[in-house]
Amino acid sequence: MSKKLFTPGPGNIPQFIRVQLSKDIIHHRMEDYQHVLFEVTGKLQKVFHTTSDVLILTTSGTGAMESAVVNFFSKGDEVLVINTGFFGERFIQICRTFELNVHSLDYEWGTTYRLEDVKKAFAKYPNIKGVFVIYHETSTGVINNLKELGDFVRHTNALLITDCISGMIHHPFNFDEWYVDCALASSQKGFLLPPGLAFVALSTKAKERMELATLPKYFWDYNKYLSYYKRGQNPYTPAISLVLALDVALDYILEKGVETISKEKRRLREYGEKRLTEIGFTSFIQDDSIKGNVLIPVLINDVDLNKLVEFLDNRYDISVSKGQGKYTDKMLRVGLLSEFTEEDIDYLLEKILEFKATNEVE
Ligand SMILES: *Cc1c(COP(=O)(O)O)cnc(C)c1O
Repeated sequence: MSKKLFTPGPGNIPQFIRVQLSKDIIHHRMEDYQHVLFEVTGKLQKVFHTTSDVLILTTSGTGAMESAVVNFFSKGDEVLVINTGFFGERFIQICRTFELNVHSLDYEWGTTYRLEDVKKAFAKYPNIKGVFVIYHETSTGVINNLKELGDFVRHTNALLITDCISGMIHHPFNFDEWYVDCALASSQKGFLLPPGLAFVALSTKAKERMELATLPKYFWDYNKYLSYYKRGQNPYTPAISLVLALDVALDYILEKGVETISKEKRRLREYGEKRLTEIGFTSFIQDDSIKGNVLIPVLINDVDLNKLVEFLDNRYDISVSKGQGKYTDKMLRVGLLSEFTEEDIDYLLEKILEFKATNEVE
């Protein structure tokens, strides 16, 4: 029996993609791969809504985050990190690792940023060269507005670098119209694939900035990816099987449409949230307008979270996620990346109720 992954990435892989994944491999220096790489990149451009370059890296999402830092900056550069949770903190850590001069705007988990604060930060630190932000913050379920940020940052000397790793596909995204300079995504979130690939979209402003960046890099050097791409290749052996599966996944995603997918996910999130709060959990995010469609974050109140996770896994092969960082033992995150329906949510709820009945305090 396969596990039901109610986790915020990876989710369950649909059967048609698993069929593709089981097929024979091809060689990445041959013409057939070249063809696939061009095709897949064209489809990624459609998903990102850009006519600019989209690179494919073989790495998890965090590798893509690190790659953005080393390609655009030099030691000591001033950057601004909009920190609304665990993944915002990760950007701070990566930037500090490479000895950038990090200014951060730190917000309460479960809330979003205020544009006023960003403007004030630029007034105070006019040399800011990059703004980092998470589109969908997977530790809290908050979706941060990129459009209004892009409208501001494009008039500055800074690059807007967006981690869209979990937000992509489950939310509309428009690289060109929102004036994003670098957008990161990865295969195991909205793309219905196993982990292993990351995608990086680059604006012209971003490519110009790359020429000035002196942080050391070898595997991550975007210029190598850009120059190999001209020949339909990646510089190093890519996760070939995943690239082939990505082609199939993107056909499916583009045919269905990101608008449709995000509406479906939103309905599912609303449904699941309603059901979970009805049985005693508390919605983590107060403001409805910033709730994302990727997962349902709830506070557990008097439930023993470790026992619940174990119960669902051992008895029913259901995986759910605990919180991250300071919310590890306080928050339940029900991920919606798998292609679930309301019936699947009902099934999960039934099992949670069973757990609660057998673990009643008195
Ligand atoms: C999943 C995720 C990442 C990357 O995690 P990896 O485990 O390295 O793939 C980064 N940012 C966000 C917002 C994520 O959801």
